[in-house]
Amino acid sequence: MTKDPHETVRPFLVDSHAHLELDPLVKDPEAVVARAVAAGVAAIVTVGIDLEDVEEALKIADRIDRVYAGVGFHPHNAKDVGDGSLAKMEALARHPKVVAYGEIGLDFFRNLSPQDTQLRVFQDQLALAKQIDKPVIIHLRNAYGEGLEMLERAAPFPKSGVIHCFSGDENDAKRALEMGFFISIPGTVTYKNNTILRDIVRGLPDDRILLETDCPFLAPEPLRGKINEPAYMVHTARRVAEVRGVPLEETARQTTANAARLFGICLPG
Ligand SMILES: [Zn+2]
Ligand SMILES: [Zn+2]
Repeated sequence: MTKDPHETVRPFLVDSHAHLELDPLVKDPEAVVARAVAAGVAAIVTVGIDLEDVEEALKIADRIDRVYAGVGFHPHNAKDVGDGSLAKMEALARHPKVVAYGEIGLDFFRNLSPQDTQLRVFQDQLALAKQIDKPVIIHLRNAYGEGLEMLERAAPFPKSGVIHCFSGDENDAKRALEMGFFISIPGTVTYKNNTILRDIVRGLPDDRILLETDCPFLAPEPLRGKINEPAYMVHTARRVAEVRGVPLEETARQTTANAARLFGICLPG
């Protein structure tokens, strides 16, 4: 077999968590994806966070082959979940480009929805995710104790899941791994003071680590403060490779294989 001469210089990445349907990326998702592909990103999971946002995410996923979708009510939007909204979300979740249910979870940092509402909506959506038989994308912020406890009570998850934009400690990571979850690493791993996350990244098993941008938020160094997009993920991948002491190509290969396995996607060349 002849070896692709680009293989050693060009990473082959999957952005496991993006928001192409949010402003300003939604203005021209085709251009955003073209820049991502030029930077070695083979596929992107764009994550809709309420009914309207999910419809936008699905429009993009319908138009662009490399874009897949996650759907669910973000904990920020838990307060808007009324009668019938979960049934509507369930119908959208059955769309063929939807590869995961979520992001769902708890955000006790910003508390944009009351905590008891967040807990109830998370519980309901965990049940829904299992029912539709897709992996879960979990968002936890300042709520790892409560969130992991709920996940442990709801386990097992036959289709597995991912704790996205991981910001817990070593023990939180251990508990997530024990449930068979993946841990997704965002651009914050490049931030000067984030030694906690780098220590966790160093210890993660090869077959459980994913990479993400969470764009338009959290641009990695040296682009910190800019509007993030999938094309910038190579900076995160490079830092993760460095921390783990493996070549960038190997990190790309592992994380891409993990994303393809979790989300059940076939990757374009
Ligand atoms: Zn999130
Ligand atoms: Zn997100």
